[in-house]
Amino acid sequence: MKHQQNILQDTHGRDHGYLRISLIERCNLRCSYCMPEEGVQLSPKSHLMTYEEIYEIAKTFVKHGVTKIRLTGGEPLIRKDIPVILEKLASLPVELSISSNAVIIHKFIDVLKLNGVKKINISLDSLDREKFKHITRRDQFDIVYKNMFLLIEEGFNVKVNVVLMKDFNDNEIIDFINLTKDLPISVRFIEFMPFDGNKWNMSKMVSYAEVMNYVNGSFSNENIERLQDAPNDTSKNYKISGYNGSFAIISSVTNPFCDSCNRLRLTANGQLKNCLFSSSESDLLTTLRAGKSIEPIIKKAVEAKFKVRGGMDTLEKLQEPKLHNNNRSMITIGG
Ligand code: SAM
Ligand code: SF4
Repeated sequence: MKHQQNILQDTHGRDHGYLRISLIERCNLRCSYCMPEEGVQLSPKSHLMTYEEIYEIAKTFVKHGVTKIRLTGGEPLIRKDIPVILEKLASLPVELSISSNAVIIHKFIDVLKLNGVKKINISLDSLDREKFKHITRRDQFDIVYKNMFLLIEEGFNVKVNVVLMKDFNDNEIIDFINLTKDLPISVRFIEFMPFDGNKWNMSKMVSYAEVMNYVNGSFSNENIERLQDAPNDTSKNYKISGYNGSFAIISSVTNPFCDSCNRLRLTANGQLKNCLFSSSESDLLTTLRAGKSIEPIIKKAVEAKFKVRGGMDTLEKLQEPKLHNNNRSMITIGG
């Protein structure tokens, strides 16, 4: 496919080949780090992209060089037309993947396989049923845990996302790593990030360095293998020698990976975000609905991308509520 113009390259020389599409603002869980307790203001249904619009926008990105699309949300699997969205996107020349909380994923095994989805990221923040209930505000641990095994048995490449919070689940880091002894999964410890309404502060976060302190305290140095990170990887990858799976740390707060960022995000109401941390958005849906080309808007949005974390290039700026509270809640961005 010939690119007319490299509209997906920013002024820092980064090419954006990866699009994350949020399909829905709603969720069947209520993770406290992701959404405020009182919920979020939902867009009216007519403001959300239809499956045809998702396909049209995705096609434009693919024409300009996107080769990977990840579906996210809210919870993407609660969208009623998810089978047709998967089918339409699977017809494009992309690697299609999904992020899900895995609560109802057992109902979608066939449709995911049929549409070539191989990589699935699931969220599981605690191996303790009560703690899971506390953090997600829903009693769904058993099914999520069972579904993790089901996905592995069904041959998917499974990554398990764990958002770490101080004095809540940091004492489970080694339990999670021990899961990788037999299971061929990658457990990814994510530094808790600030978004509107999630009551973030630095002291609640468990840093990359702190995770490694736990790891070094439990395994001998020669058994901790640093793995080669994939190009554009957001995580620092490790493995315990002889274990089937691996673990990684996503350190967006203490050690951002912006230099190699290749991601763009499309929200469920058709806004393009050039960075997870950026408070500015570009309205693709209104332009698409007006029958005009969305390419100039994409180009402008990509050009405006800051070098580091939506302009919050220091930890001081990231800690400034005025700056990060202008951003949406994570549930309406999609991770
Ligand atoms: N519902 C799906 C899920 O939970 O995987 C997809 C959407 S969720 C917003 C995507 C990812 O964002 C999840 O792995 C979640 O743990 C992560 N996430 C949400 N809020 C976060 C925060 N404040 N800091 C770090 N990661 C966060
Ligand atoms: Fe829902 Fe995922 Fe956010 Fe949890 S992290 S509330 S599962 S969207």
